[in-house]
Amino acid sequence: MTRLDLFIDRMVSQRACLDFAIAETDDLTGPVFELGLGNGRTFHHMRENIHGRDVYVFERAVASHPDSTPAEELTILGDVMETLPQSLERFGATASLIHADLGGHNRAKNDVFARAVSPLIEPLLVPGGLMVSSDRMYFDNMIELPLPEGAVEGRCFIYKK
Ligand code: SAM
Repeated sequence: MTRLDLFIDRMVSQRACLDFAIAETDDLTGPVFELGLGNGRTFHHMRENIHGRDVYVFERAVASHPDSTPAEELTILGDVMETLPQSLERFGATASLIHADLGGHNRAKNDVFARAVSPLIEPLLVPGGLMVSSDRMYFDNMIELPLPEGAVEGRCFIYKK
């Protein structure tokens, strides 16, 4: 597989998993959290397709496309290792959907980070809430769901609380 193949698989999988998760959580009213804004492509997709729920973005430093930049009041700036515990105090277990795309090119490093951040994500979800991630996560009380049609095994993961 070339890097281009891997990139395309990741993009196609992100869209398929996000579309599935958005539809599955449509009857929930709690906020949606986007962890890692980057260029803002997945944030833009979520903002355009999610109605009636606030989409908060967690990011160290905003450098997104102007069309894909969240409003200031929906931006939670800082390292997620600090802002996620703070958000648990602020929101409690209310998030209906959390999407995480925090990793870089080093898969081993991404796995170490996924293990560290998983226990900070799990308590934020409301029962029935979904989590979509580009990396395998390590949760205590969430089940991994089968991928929807169009997503590629190993490129995206979906968990339900
Ligand atoms: N999904 C995005 C898109 O469609 O454009 C791409 C996200 S990009 C791969 C990852 C982003 O996560 C980067 O902007 C990086 O700054 C952010 N990030 C990585 N680790 C972080 C951390 N510990 N705290 C906050 N943001 C982090």
